[in-house]
Amino acid sequence: MRVEFLPSSVPASDAQFLVSYLVNEAVAIDGGSLGLLADLDRQAAVRHVFLTHAHLDHIATLPILLENTYEPGPECVELLGSAAVLECLRRDVFNGRVWPDFFALSTQADRFVRGTPLEAGVPVERAGLTVTPVPVSHCLDTLGMLVDDGRVAVAFPSDTGPTVEFWRRIAACPRLAAVFLECSWPESMAALAAETGHLCPSTFAAEVRKLDRDVRWIVVHRKARYATEIGRDLAALGLENVELVRPGLAYEF
Ligand SMILES: [Zn+2]
Ligand SMILES: [Zn+2]
Repeated sequence: MRVEFLPSSVPASDAQFLVSYLVNEAVAIDGGSLGLLADLDRQAAVRHVFLTHAHLDHIATLPILLENTYEPGPECVELLGSAAVLECLRRDVFNGRVWPDFFALSTQADRFVRGTPLEAGVPVERAGLTVTPVPVSHCLDTLGMLVDDGRVAVAFPSDTGPTVEFWRRIAACPRLAAVFLECSWPESMAALAAETGHLCPSTFAAEVRKLDRDVRWIVVHRKARYATEIGRDLAALGLENVELVRPGLAYEF
């Protein structure tokens, strides 16, 4: 399985402002920066976008992606998310004011977009991957994703504070190779992390211990202004198998 955490700064750097992962080029988890891919063929290759929640850093360039990939005909990008996320996109983004209503403009013969509701715990198969959405504990309903190609599995818990069900679900997966886990705030802002449904280094470490598996832990979602401090805090904890994400790197699992 090939996973790339897309860069989101200009020029590309390790700073993370937006969230999106490409899996085997055809499937994406979240749409923070998909529409910024300079190679339009890579944008067009993205057929299925799984959305964890509708916070802006996770959906920011979906409107641009859909515009860039539109061609007359029935083929289009599929957006998969909870009913609440799809409703939010319709009402708050594709509403004829922020952006054209691509849902209303889509007909059977000529589509801009297709929305598919996800149910928590119910796996979906797309492009040779089985994607299982599992609830996590953010400040609004959010689905983490477990992506399994039958040989190897990778977990994307998305934005979350301390959580339970997600770890229970992925602990049952024998092929798990890596977890892209957030650590949004430094230890000095632990109260803010707790209040906003995010992790700081000490709660990150507690989540790692909950799963207790020999997998790669790849740290994402460090708030840009505090990224260095978070990295220092994490290093001081001496956790094994923990590494900072490298945006733009093609991870092979
Ligand atoms: Zn969020
Ligand atoms: Zn976020």
